[in-house]
Amino acid sequence: MTMNDIELGDLYQELIVDHSRRPRNFRRLESATHQAEGFNPLCGDKVRVYVDMSNNMVRDAGFEGEGCAISKASASLMTESIKGKSMEEVEKLISRFRDLATGAADGTGLGKLAVFSGLRGFPTRVKCATLVWHTLRAALEQTPETVSTEL
Ligand code: ZN
Repeated sequence: MTMNDIELGDLYQELIVDHSRRPRNFRRLESATHQAEGFNPLCGDKVRVYVDMSNNMVRDAGFEGEGCAISKASASLMTESIKGKSMEEVEKLISRFRDLATGAADGTGLGKLAVFSGLRGFPTRVKCATLVWHTLRAALEQTPETVSTEL
């Protein structure tokens, strides 16, 4: 499925295209205190998330990997939005994003991330968007295995 198969709002499309073409924080973080790898076999998205946490605050975040436009844009926007946040705030954001993507909540307080509400009704694309968030949670919990959306 290509982006054109989905009827998307302009803002949504613009943000996804921008962040997938020029992903922010797309780099290995040598200073990472937490990291994990995630895989979405349905689409082939593969991501490694790096978090540099100090004094209970995300000092820096980055990611590496290969995937579709949605997974890349989601990783880019996620790493942007967690910088400077505490562990508790990040945990809250992870739950909120999941609720947003699955339709359980609206985008209140999510800023730019709210554009992902455009994925509702496309369950396979929701997995592309949430993969990096599952991986972030695993990184923060120091889960050693690869995270899969199909477990
Ligand atoms: Zn994907």
